[in-house]
Amino acid sequence: MKFVELAANLDQMEATSKRNDLVRILSDVYRACSVDELEPITYLIQGRLAPFFEPVEIGLGERLLITAIAGAYSVPKEEVIKLNRQTGDLGITAQRLAPASLRESPSVVEVHQRLFQIATAGGAGSQQEKLDGFTGLLGDLDSTSAKHLVRITLGKMRLGIGDPTVLDALSFAKKGDRSLRPVLEAAYNRTSDLGLIARTLEEAGEAGLDALKVRAGHPLRPQLAERLPNPEAVIKKLGIVGVQPKYDGLRVQIHKNADEVSIFSRNLESMTEMFPELDAAASTLNVESVILDGEAIAYNAESEEYVPFQETTARRRKEGIQEMAARVPMRAFVFDVMFRDGSDLTPLPYQRRFEVVQELLRESDTLLTAPLTTTDSAEVLTRELLDNISRGLEGVVAKRLDSPYQAGARNFNWVKLKRNTSGQLNDTIDVVLLGSYRGKGKRAEFGAGALLAGVYDSDKDEFVTISKLGTGLSDQGWREIHERLASLEVAEKPARVNSIFVPDAWLEPAIVVEVLADEITPSPRHTAGMTGDRPGFALRFPRIVSLRTQDKKPEDATTVREIREMFEQQRQPGRGRPVGRQR
Ligand code: AMP
Repeated sequence: MKFVELAANLDQMEATSKRNDLVRILSDVYRACSVDELEPITYLIQGRLAPFFEPVEIGLGERLLITAIAGAYSVPKEEVIKLNRQTGDLGITAQRLAPASLRESPSVVEVHQRLFQIATAGGAGSQQEKLDGFTGLLGDLDSTSAKHLVRITLGKMRLGIGDPTVLDALSFAKKGDRSLRPVLEAAYNRTSDLGLIARTLEEAGEAGLDALKVRAGHPLRPQLAERLPNPEAVIKKLGIVGVQPKYDGLRVQIHKNADEVSIFSRNLESMTEMFPELDAAASTLNVESVILDGEAIAYNAESEEYVPFQETTARRRKEGIQEMAARVPMRAFVFDVMFRDGSDLTPLPYQRRFEVVQELLRESDTLLTAPLTTTDSAEVLTRELLDNISRGLEGVVAKRLDSPYQAGARNFNWVKLKRNTSGQLNDTIDVVLLGSYRGKGKRAEFGAGALLAGVYDSDKDEFVTISKLGTGLSDQGWREIHERLASLEVAEKPARVNSIFVPDAWLEPAIVVEVLADEITPSPRHTAGMTGDRPGFALRFPRIVSLRTQDKKPEDATTVREIREMFEQQRQPGRGRPVGRQR
């Protein structure tokens, strides 16, 4: 497939906001391409060159792209900058300056390879090398191709293709319907690599997908926890459980594969460099290969205290890692193991996996086993919960002892119980920012009035609104959020957003914010959970608790299904309103 053909299809995808159309166009692309093209196309449509967990970045920002565009089309840089101010989209700027058509167009595989070369250029003079490579590539492309190439490079695809849409398109390409979705999704949950899945399906069919197993070095999608309102409900639903403290740190998946250690965040981004002490501890484990799941948290040896989430994540800034590692070293409370020495342990019951964790970590003082208490008594569970809260932890996680590790699933194998403010147990909600209002008075100074926020509908792969947020942040907090939002503003409603409200500025869904609310109420105007005959859901008295930009992708926000469950739970007799925790 020529890149120009892919670009024409990307244009069609851009023109529709209907998910069925997106799936159809993408499945046509898959049907039309050869095996070797499946991986490059899958990564490129996601604005990537490799699966998300591989830290391959093209490394050309807006400023350098402007220089490349000026060079490729022989126009002064000032002119590019001026035009870009008018269009507000560097892709369109490139499109305006590029020739409408060319006799030759490079193939998709060639464009992917050339971008890969640009991404992996390193060392002295690499910036110039990247720039020259990109200028050359732009010079070989027509205007539509140039537009999409620039957007891919900036990671601003604006097509609205999330993982579920890719999985549906693959199923359609192969079977003409969605029937392969469960098999595809299961393989995706084990491998986190959509390109690999696309190629495997073509080369080896469903049996090939089943044969894709968990492997060290490749993150699997983490198992997630459900909510229940109180200890009684947990015991009633799960029976005997293993109870562990719920640590308020960062989820880490630690892989050791021979001499190589890799550490991934909850959203499967590579974070190995950020945690040298976890890396060192994992490399001394007495196994050839292993995958561990746990929560990393910074420990202050002077005060003998664990440091709160916000400080733990300060590590995400690349500077000063060694200094921080010395001052507040990171520890990880490991609660699970999914793989050891070539064997997939995910089908084993949790009790057995936990024994393996204990055995593996016996000698480590950086990788610690998260303590586990077994009980079938609501009183004991309540005591554990209160104990952990009084020790400054978030609450507890109760786990079914006989459950397998279900990658990517949020189900009642794990249930979280958290601290509360009014005697009722409850939880915060993670929302995605979808729009902003200009605001009045002091707020207008920061350019940030209220924010339009939504949750994720995983069935439809879209973001639906649930609330407007106006409180919870300090002046400094508002200023910071405004700075982050500026680069996400777009003129049109983004593809995957479904909203009746029209904010002053739309935002590309990217930033996840943790909010606390008094209650979930039905709403005729919010689209979360709205169907033909049912109203949507809204949050009553929402306030921002924290920004979760560090570890959550927009698709990791609370889902409509969870909101509906929370709504049902709050209506159960004897239950108060869902009031979340305070950090
Ligand atoms: P939440 O992010 O509120 O959905 O809660 C689930 C998260 O709690 C997991 O993704 C982990 O990051 C964290 N967590 C902390 N301690 C544990 C534990 N003992 N078992 C499982 N998850 C834990």
